Amino acid sequence: MATAGKVIVCKAAVAWEPKKPVKIEEIEVAPPQADEVRIKIVATAVCHTDLYHLLESTNKDGFPTVLGHEAAGIVESVGEGVTEFQPGDKVIPVFISQCGECRFCKSPKTNQCETAWTRIPLDLMVSVQSRLSCNGKRLHQFLGTSTFSEYTVVHQTALAKIDPTAPLDKVCLIGCGISTGYGAAVNTAKVEPGSTCAVFGLGAVGLAAVMGCKNAGAERIIAVDINADKFEKAKVFGATDFVNPKDHNKPINQVLADMTNGGVDYSIECTGKVEVMRSALESCVGSWGVSVIVGWTDLYDVAFRSSQLVTGRTWKGSVFGGFKGKHGVPGMVKAYLDKKLKLDEFITHKMTLDQVNDAIDLMKQCKCIRTVLTVCQE
Ligand code: NAD
Ligand code: ZN
Repeated sequence: MATAGKVIVCKAAVAWEPKKPVKIEEIEVAPPQADEVRIKIVATAVCHTDLYHLLESTNKDGFPTVLGHEAAGIVESVGEGVTEFQPGDKVIPVFISQCGECRFCKSPKTNQCETAWTRIPLDLMVSVQSRLSCNGKRLHQFLGTSTFSEYTVVHQTALAKIDPTAPLDKVCLIGCGISTGYGAAVNTAKVEPGSTCAVFGLGAVGLAAVMGCKNAGAERIIAVDINADKFEKAKVFGATDFVNPKDHNKPINQVLADMTNGGVDYSIECTGKVEVMRSALESCVGSWGVSVIVGWTDLYDVAFRSSQLVTGRTWKGSVFGGFKGKHGVPGMVKAYLDKKLKLDEFITHKMTLDQVNDAIDLMKQCKCIRTVLTVCQE
């Protein structure tokens, strides 16, 4: 590659400060250092976690940054010591690394690699190392990825090689939202055949959770959202019942208890709102109900009554659907290619990187499921 070993000057969307539109800038992307891989981003989608960082979080130390973490691309060059990847490989960056060496990577019980949150402190959400800069100013890499850019550099433990026949403008969704929701149902909740489930929040993450419940054999899947426009889509993924909390004047857990003879077997929260996390817990049946928190927030505490857990409910959380970063992704891509996983149905809008602020606005206004941005040609 003619660009290997050189700084690449390219286009990226820079978030200079919180709560402001991002700006398309010319940035410099340094060559990958040891154990790093530089990739050309072909397609990236916008996830609510990008909005959380830009519009909701109050931590200014996470700026300036290049957002974006749900993407697919092609390896441009590799740093010293990288043998797993070669230029031309099709890849998906993963925000949760898998070093393969630590006690957590060696355990089948978790995807929480020891290196993941040392490189990306959870309160900052940006990696401490970055190869991106603009006019001499270092740009933090959001979730270690920064995919709203034509080129980016990621650590080799945070990158998955995928089937070269996979369409990158579709499988980019596997880099976050779809794996997160789907895995929350099948890996974290471990939904059983014949069960009754409730999914709170029907963005891409929640809809993927609905699909996970369906594929796991759930008999009844109750889709809950304050935006009734989402119900049509939820039906496509297998939801059987639809509840809009705005249509009821009693707590939503009571509505679900009435519908299910006392509560659901599994509830999955995909809104990032603490009051919904509590409702989701209260909506599952005592004795054996399992509730999974997927929504992300570091801003507020959740309140609950100890009696809700003492009487047998289990409360869990799930990052990236419990999938180990590198190992989970190729399997999800294969499931899509084998037509066992829906992806196309999540994509409601297609745009280019230049239109990223429009894509962010669409999600803010709750008018999309996923917008896929074309970044570079393959
Ligand atoms: P989204 O904004 O597209 O969807 C959120 C949905 O929740 C919307 O349909 C909205 O109408 C609905 N909602 C809001 N308030 C509600 C309420 N009170 N009751 C019921 N529904 C309500 O977002 P997304 O991209 O699908 O992401 C969902 C959440 O998952 C976000 O918090 C995001 O940060 C988080 N997330 C977590 C992980 C992880 O690994 N744990 C990964 C990706 C995203
Ligand atoms: Zn995401």
